[in-house]
Amino acid sequence: MFSRLKSIFFFKCPNCNEGNLFPNNNFFDFKFQVNKSCSQCNEDFVREPGFYYGAMFLSYIISAFFSLSICGICIIVLGIEWKMSIFILCCILALLFVFLFRFSRSLWIHIMVKPKIK
Ligand SMILES: [Zn+2]
Repeated sequence: MFSRLKSIFFFKCPNCNEGNLFPNNNFFDFKFQVNKSCSQCNEDFVREPGFYYGAMFLSYIISAFFSLSICGICIIVLGIEWKMSIFILCCILALLFVFLFRFSRSLWIHIMVKPKIK
């Protein structure tokens, strides 16, 4: 279970938890393509055209809850004005954009692909 969570957060292969899902793990590199297959176990990462379409909905849900949490903390806990809270949220989302994109794809493939080897 822990290795599966680690694999999701570090963008690893859902089958072997070792191969990289993306060509590199640099968050400031705006190449959004997933590797075609795992370098370790040859698991197919692009299973069919539009496979990652569902990841878009995951990204939307994750971003919405994240945004509500950040704004809630800023307004209720820290007592910051709502306009400033929205500005802070936009800055945080701009910084985390690539991570959220990759995380939603990683989560999606881990939901859809069950590990074959232990
Ligand atoms: Zn693999």
